[in-house]
Amino acid sequence: MKTNASIEVPHTTSQTSSHTATQHLFDTRAIRTGQTRSAQMEHNDPLHLTSSFVFDSAAQAHAAFVYDAADNVYSRFTNPTVRSFEQRLASLENARHCVATASGMAAITMTVMATLKSGDHVVASESLFGSSVTFFKRVMLRFGVSCTFVKLTDPDAWRSAITDSTKMLFLETPSNPLCEIVDLRAMVEIARHHGCWLVVDNCFCTPALQQPIALGADIVIHSATKYLDGQGRCVGGAVVTNDRDLNADLYTLMRTVGACMSAFNAWVFLNGLETLNLRMKEHCNNATDVAEWLMTHDAVKHVHYPGLSQHPQFELAKSQQSGAGGIVSFEVHGGREHAWSVIDNTQLLSITGNLGDAKTTIGHPATTTHGRISEQERVAAGIGESLVRLSVGLENPVDIKNDLATGLDMLSASA
Ligand SMILES: *Cc1c(COP(=O)(O)O)cnc(C)c1O
Repeated sequence: MKTNASIEVPHTTSQTSSHTATQHLFDTRAIRTGQTRSAQMEHNDPLHLTSSFVFDSAAQAHAAFVYDAADNVYSRFTNPTVRSFEQRLASLENARHCVATASGMAAITMTVMATLKSGDHVVASESLFGSSVTFFKRVMLRFGVSCTFVKLTDPDAWRSAITDSTKMLFLETPSNPLCEIVDLRAMVEIARHHGCWLVVDNCFCTPALQQPIALGADIVIHSATKYLDGQGRCVGGAVVTNDRDLNADLYTLMRTVGACMSAFNAWVFLNGLETLNLRMKEHCNNATDVAEWLMTHDAVKHVHYPGLSQHPQFELAKSQQSGAGGIVSFEVHGGREHAWSVIDNTQLLSITGNLGDAKTTIGHPATTTHGRISEQERVAAGIGESLVRLSVGLENPVDIKNDLATGLDMLSASA
């Protein structure tokens, strides 16, 4: 199949979207933006499960292949269901462009490949998703892109790590699993001052709770696998930006490298986005309820949740997030044995590394998600053996608390 080197961002299908990005409020856009309707007049978003598209004539095929006419050619390049997802997510982030990818990690890979070259340097938060750390530490280093990791919450550490070769600042806020927050407005200023891309992985908050591009970030990354789906069904990702040239580069790269989102997954995510706002509100409510209850339990030493007034960045969180999110982590008195016993005594909660699901998940970061980093790095990151992470789901919080109480009550009884 012939591809062209320079591609105008295509993505116009023969169908038209009746809903544009900014004309309605958030909840409405989450349901309506990007919707298309085929000649069958289906009510739900159509699922275009096809690898290629047909033409009426040889001349039309020629125009599509050689002159990048707006027609769909092949689903690695464009697919109308994927396009609908891209339009809807861009609209929710209050941004102009989005490229959907096969996973959150593919979104990060595409972003780095589209913006950096050998010799460039990245400054990244030391509290990143595990595979992101591996990507910057091991994979990109082989391609000549180096990375310095700094403490997320310390703007001076970011400033002093920047060198003449630094082209990108990369962070997640709130962080995993301790829910530390960085001042996004301050990071925008640092990035602008040094001419670096500011990339924010917005997986924990989703645009329902935080919109980094509106605050000045250049690029937002998503693992759609998490809250955008919301029910743990599919793996996918996205890169969102207002920068037209960057978007064109991302799109060219994506179709050439082949890290495209499947149409089926896009269809699941489209349906997931319809309930995003409702779900995120309830994740926040349930997480707040569980976090406040954990604070009162005498087997619990510390609770990390930005919705608690005790959280060191409670005010900062309020200034840039419209909710504290669904991730709560807590430390029990004692070490690994006690943390594991709380986890093992749950009956309802799922012991899994995934997050952002309607089902509450529980895990022990020090021996799972952060089990491969050195003890020293773990201690530096504040991830001790007594730490338990919850992704609070949408079950009734009374049942979530009762399930956690089994193990916690045993710890306080034996203390
Ligand atoms: C899960 C996750 C990713 C990676 O996403 P995949 O869809 O699993 O590739 C990146 N960043 C964060 C914060 C995540 O939680």
